[in-house]
Amino acid sequence: MPYRVQRPSEFRVGLGQDLHRLVTGRRFLLGGVEIPAEKGELAHSDGDVLCHAIADAILGAAGIGDIGELFPPSDPMFKDADSRVLLQTAYGEVKRAGWRLVNLDCVVICEKPKVLPYRERIRSSLAAILGIEPCSVMVKGKTSEGLGDIGQELAVEAVAVCLLESIRRMARNRRGGRK
Ligand SMILES: [Zn+2]
Repeated sequence: MPYRVQRPSEFRVGLGQDLHRLVTGRRFLLGGVEIPAEKGELAHSDGDVLCHAIADAILGAAGIGDIGELFPPSDPMFKDADSRVLLQTAYGEVKRAGWRLVNLDCVVICEKPKVLPYRERIRSSLAAILGIEPCSVMVKGKTSEGLGDIGQELAVEAVAVCLLESIRRMARNRRGGRK
């Protein structure tokens, strides 16, 4: 089959992943919510692993880059940075590039603490950070079944997928034009 040039898609998917070491004396943050825990994320910023994975997912979907390029860990400006602000800034870049977030689906992998009791708070927090509805944000907690560094409670990992829709398409649909 000859290769045919298609119209550029009006939807984009993105994938983000992040992992941080867990150490004592740090806060455990997920999606802007502080969760009581013995250990917290070690990082140059505040270490919110979920905000970082989501930022990478949306930046990737928009073809902009990744969170490390936007906020270099070597930059002292981002020392202990509030990851809610980093995520908001990343989404600002995504919107400027012509994209709007349709939905997010995320997995947090850690042995302790359990994510489920905090899930609704995390969903609401992320929705507020991004200016979308909580029903468009899903967060699931998993353990590593005691295996590996996550299983040994040495690390926490987050994975996020997102769907972006072009703002052009939204405007056209609002006008009731051709789809
Ligand atoms: Zn991170």
